[in-house]
Amino acid sequence: MTSAFQSQRSQDGSQAHVLENKGAMVAVLLVEDNPADVMAIRQALKQEVSDRFQIINSDNLSLAIQQLQVEESPIGVVLLDLELSDSNDIEAVQEISRCAPQVPIVVLTGRDDDEVGRQALRHGAQDYLCKTTLKPESLAKSLNHAIERQQILESLRHSQTHLEEQQTFLRSIMNASPTLMAVKDLAGFYLVANDSLAALYGTTPEQMIGHREHCVNPSQAQARLHEQEELKVVQEKQERQIDQEPCQDLNGGVRWLQSIRRPLLGHSGEVECVLVVMTDVTVRQQAERNLWEQAERSRLLGQLTHQIRESLKLPDILHTAASQVRRFLQVDRVIIYSLLRRQSVDLKAMDYGKDYGTLEDGGGALATVYKFWATQNAMQEQLHGVVGFESREQIIEGVSHWIKTGGGLASQVVLAQIEALKVRSLLVVPILKGEYFLQEDHLKGLIGDPVDNSPDSSSDNFPGDFAEGHALDPEEQGQEDGSQGSECGRLWGVLVAHHCADERAWPLWEQDFLRNLSEQLVIAIQQATLYDHLSKVNRKLEQLATMDGLTGIPNRRFFDQTLHQEWCRGQRGGQPLALIVADIDFFKPYNDHYGHLAGDDCLQQVAQALAKVARRSTDLAFRYGGEEFAIILPDTTLTGAIAVAQQVLDHLWSLALEHAHSKVAKQVTLSLGLASFVPSLNQDPDDLIQRADQALFMAKEAGRNRAIALGAHSDEQLSVPVLHPQTNTNPSAEI
Ligand code: GH3
Ligand code: MG
Ligand code: MG
Repeated sequence: MTSAFQSQRSQDGSQAHVLENKGAMVAVLLVEDNPADVMAIRQALKQEVSDRFQIINSDNLSLAIQQLQVEESPIGVVLLDLELSDSNDIEAVQEISRCAPQVPIVVLTGRDDDEVGRQALRHGAQDYLCKTTLKPESLAKSLNHAIERQQILESLRHSQTHLEEQQTFLRSIMNASPTLMAVKDLAGFYLVANDSLAALYGTTPEQMIGHREHCVNPSQAQARLHEQEELKVVQEKQERQIDQEPCQDLNGGVRWLQSIRRPLLGHSGEVECVLVVMTDVTVRQQAERNLWEQAERSRLLGQLTHQIRESLKLPDILHTAASQVRRFLQVDRVIIYSLLRRQSVDLKAMDYGKDYGTLEDGGGALATVYKFWATQNAMQEQLHGVVGFESREQIIEGVSHWIKTGGGLASQVVLAQIEALKVRSLLVVPILKGEYFLQEDHLKGLIGDPVDNSPDSSSDNFPGDFAEGHALDPEEQGQEDGSQGSECGRLWGVLVAHHCADERAWPLWEQDFLRNLSEQLVIAIQQATLYDHLSKVNRKLEQLATMDGLTGIPNRRFFDQTLHQEWCRGQRGGQPLALIVADIDFFKPYNDHYGHLAGDDCLQQVAQALAKVARRSTDLAFRYGGEEFAIILPDTTLTGAIAVAQQVLDHLWSLALEHAHSKVAKQVTLSLGLASFVPSLNQDPDDLIQRADQALFMAKEAGRNRAIALGAHSDEQLSVPVLHPQTNTNPSAEI
């Protein structure tokens, strides 16, 4: 259908949706009880716009309402007379707009009253016409305008609903976001805020909007800082960020926030408001902190381990560990015990604060309880046996548990010790041997058994620890179960921390840290023990390499070393160095007569005789080879050496070792050659040996059983034979 209205629609696109039905037939509900008026209206409309309007007449209000309530009512506009049989007032407008709000109403009444007209418009009518002054063209226009206006209103209402839905949707997104969001105007008033931000300040978005931050943020200082930041954002037209900012939450906890403030520009390019977005980085920060702490602990562990391992001596290692752990935990006392056989423990190291001393026995009875706790925990695989008591009550409870398992006899002593040591919190860390912890037997298998008889061998080491530590068997531990016993057997000892000043907790990370430290400690213990064992084996090997196997006195190798050392020393100090070489007289006939074994025995006795005479700590007797011996006498002149030679001859003579085939006596005798030099740069030890040998030769030549001494130079030769007073010839001997 074409009409003047349709052409207008194509020219004015913005009105298209409103005017779309302009040319279509519109059903007009004419609520009018006066048939003459009905007729007049029909004619007026027909005359004006022939078949645009189809009139449906109702002569009272109730009928009209029924008509409007019909499902899919075709009514496009209501033309309402206010003077009806069942209504005589403006209420008719209200009634109709209530039951059909989408249908426009035009009031057409006989009363030309402006006030009534205004009321009709206020109550929802689109227009108010007076029958008496109405022109036919005005009626059609009015109806058309009413329809248009209603359509515009409908469209607006629809847009508004859509807008509201959008707003609700956006708000629900903002509120669902864990990010804290707000928009503030240039004066700092909140325009928008989401639930997360409001919750931080303990309020609601509604209560925030229209207020400044210092009215809602409980921290005034923080509100001030934020307002300053926002001012800068506006001034600089640039985003600003606060990386990490602590914020007290309502539960008293601290949340860490990262915030970004960004300017929001209007069409003109000017800042219109500021967007504030805050992210809760507490979890991330905590994770970062945990990582940092973990790295710090690893660093500390490395440092402590390094300090502990700096020494190879077990006592030093354990003392360092005790003092380092005390410093690290900030406790009043740290003790390290090792476990020995038969329930006994050995205090190895202790470190304590000046106000907190120790017990005379180091708390031995208590240590048995520590061992019990550590073993129990290790068996249950609780943190590898670390056990912490945070209060005295807890300690007493732990002791009661121990008493129940058979520790009753010493319970009073244990409780008294806890009292005496003023222990208020206690931590027991088992020192467990690792999988590859070498036992004494392994070491013996690998590097031999050091049977060390030297008097200082037990002073600085703990040779018994391995054997005693690993030998704990289930029976000794009071355990029935063999597997539990082996768990105890892994226990090298315990590290104990006492806190006396007050009660304290032992956080899991501290326990974990100490467990790691104890693992490192075990390695250090292992190394120290290995080192100790190796040193002993080495000492033994060295001894074997420098001792003569037959006579038990130092051998030729050691003689060479010693002579060289003493020569150098004499050279530096300008002191004389004397050498005696001794040879058994007629030893071949001795061997021939008494046999080789007896000959060996004789060699041993002569060696002991020489060793006994060379008593001075610096003097030393050696087996030089075969039946020859030597004595090195540092700081000794020829006269001094002659005195020693005299003693040798006297002592051997006094032994009266039978020798039936010597030509000089009936007993074993020696010939001695002596030399003494002040070592000079143009001589060497061989010169001394040669000189002594020369003297020995002379002693042999001179009849044996005597000593001859020679000086450094041939012209200094002191041919001083020292004949033994009791020397006599042996008539039965044959040369
Ligand atoms: P002289 O008075 O001139 O020194 O005569 P001698 O017989 O002692 O000297 P000789 O060099 O002829 O003999 C040395 C003997 O010492 C020969 C050898 O059998 C013996 N001998 C060397 N070493 C050992 C040993 O280890 N055990 C035994 N039983 N005898 C040894
Ligand atoms: Mg000889
Ligand atoms: Mg000889």
